[in-house]
Amino acid sequence: MTEARASLLRVRALSVSYPGPQGPLRALSDVDLDLDEHECLGVIGESGCGKTQLLLALLGLCGSAARVTGSIRYRGEELLGAAPARLAALRGRRIAMVFQEPQSALNPYLRIGEQLAEGARHHLKLTRRAALGRAAELLELVQISAPAARLRLYPHELSGGMRQRVTIAMALMCEPEILLLDEPTTALDVTIQAQVLEVLRSIRARTGVATLFVSHDFGALATLASRLTVMYAGRAVEQGAIGELYAAPLHPYTSGLLRSLPRLDLPVPLRLAAIPGQPPDLAQLPAGCAFAPRCPLVHPACAERPALRMRQGDHQVACHCELPAARIGEAWS
Ligand code: SF4
Repeated sequence: MTEARASLLRVRALSVSYPGPQGPLRALSDVDLDLDEHECLGVIGESGCGKTQLLLALLGLCGSAARVTGSIRYRGEELLGAAPARLAALRGRRIAMVFQEPQSALNPYLRIGEQLAEGARHHLKLTRRAALGRAAELLELVQISAPAARLRLYPHELSGGMRQRVTIAMALMCEPEILLLDEPTTALDVTIQAQVLEVLRSIRARTGVATLFVSHDFGALATLASRLTVMYAGRAVEQGAIGELYAAPLHPYTSGLLRSLPRLDLPVPLRLAAIPGQPPDLAQLPAGCAFAPRCPLVHPACAERPALRMRQGDHQVACHCELPAARIGEAWS
C-alpha cells in the first residue's frame, strides 16, 4: 500500500479495545486499509475476527466504553475524534451501511415508504412527496416490482430477500459515496442470496458507489470485490487483488480458509476440511503470531508478531514464512 495513493477512505493503525475483567479486549489491532473511488474492497475472516468492529469504527459507533485509536480519513478529513454532529451528518449521507439482519434494521411499526423517505427528508431536505418519489425510484433500482404499491407496506408484509433489498435502497437514498455491507446475505437462504448479490452488482455498475464488503463467504466476495483483506484475531493478515489471493494465498490462514471451502470434485471424505482449533481469546492475545496454535508451519520466529509487509506486487502478508503458495497449501495436507 503506497503512501502516495489518494484514497476516498484511508485507515491507518486503527485499533479498538474494550475494558474487560481479564484486561482490554483487543477487537481490532493496527488495521490499515484504503478504499478508492468506485472500488469494492472485500474483508473476510471467521466470526469475531474484527470485521464488524471495523465497520462500526468507520461509522463512529463503537460505543463510549471503546478505546479507538489510529486514523480514519474520509477525503482527507480525520473522522476519529470528529464532533458527534459531524459524524451524524456523514452517516447515511456520505457513508451508509447495510446490516446483516434486515428485520432488525427496519422499524416494524412504520410503512416502508416512510422509513425510506426519512433519511432523504433529513439529509437532503426533500419534501415528503419528493422523498417518497425517490424511494419508489430506489425500490425499482433494487429490482422490487410495483414500487409505488410496496411503499405502503409494513416490513412484515415482505419476504426476507425483499426486506434486505429495502435496506439496500434505504442505504442508497442519499447517494452515499461509500457503502458498507456487513454480511448482507448471511441471513438469507441460498437462492435469495444470489438475487441480493445480483442487485448489489447491478447497483455498483450503475452508481459506482465505493463499497466495503464484509463477509465470511469467498463466493459472495468474488461476485463484487476486486481486492481482499483477510482478517484474523483483529488484524489484517493478508491483502491483495482478489484473483491473486484466491489463486495463490501466501498466508497459512488464507490458505486454510480456501481449503475449507466445500469441493464437489473430490471424494466425500475430502470434500470439507476445517482449520483445527479456535481463534484466540481477544482478551488474552499471544505476544507472537496469533495464528501460531493453529498453523502447520509454525516455527521459532513466530514467537515474534509478524508485520504486514509487501511480498510481491500489491500483495501484502503478515507471516514469517516465505514459502510459495503451493508449499503452504501442501502443509495443510
Ligand atoms: S507467522 Fe508463523 S505461525 Fe504465524 S502464520 Fe506465519 S508461519 Fe504460521
